[in-house]
Amino acid sequence: FFIALEGGDGAGKSTQAEALAEWIRNKGHEVVVTREPGATPVGKRLRSILLDVSSAGLSNRAEALLYAADRAEHVGSVVRPALERGAVVISDRYIDSSVAYQGAGRDLAPTEIARISRWATDGLVPHLTVLLDVSPETARERFPEAPDRLESEPAEFHQRVRAGFLTLAASDPGRYLVVDAGQEPEAVTTVVRHRLDQMLP
Ligand code: C5P
Repeated sequence: FFIALEGGDGAGKSTQAEALAEWIRNKGHEVVVTREPGATPVGKRLRSILLDVSSAGLSNRAEALLYAADRAEHVGSVVRPALERGAVVISDRYIDSSVAYQGAGRDLAPTEIARISRWATDGLVPHLTVLLDVSPETARERFPEAPDRLESEPAEFHQRVRAGFLTLAASDPGRYLVVDAGQEPEAVTTVVRHRLDQMLP
């Protein structure tokens, strides 16, 4: 069973990933918590290229392809093997992050970005995608002191990203759960648990 957690920077994805993993483990499942970019050895190198301030001049298309390369490696060496042995996989970011950041954020065609990711993953789609939706203003208050390359983007960029995520969620309500991530973390976890209770094997 494959769960993707999506949302802007500071939405609380990693906190939710850990809380949900603990709850699912207590139900007796193996759980693999993983993330993009940077879950594999090559992915870690791609992540440092993508997030280093010295990559400021990176072209939009090259950026999109590096994220897709990270994802191909991640799916092939972490996600698929875990799913094949019956584990529940929780990924902190997946294809939708590319469609929202590189598509809506960088103004590349979202359908093309989605197509590249479908090829990179050989069509692996999550059973449930949880969108932790929060305004960029609220999220900014949660940023660490030294923002990475993306967190330094202007507010309009983060607004386009948020709108990109919401458009994706609206396009397929059966596969998405949109949660107001401005709430307390415990309240967010409760909403997600409620949905997963009806879905988990
Ligand atoms: O979620 P995490 O903090 O690990 O993401 C690292 C950075 O990469 C974030 O600033 C995020 O905005 C950015 N990112 C991106 N495009 C993606 C995935 C992440 O710009 N497809």
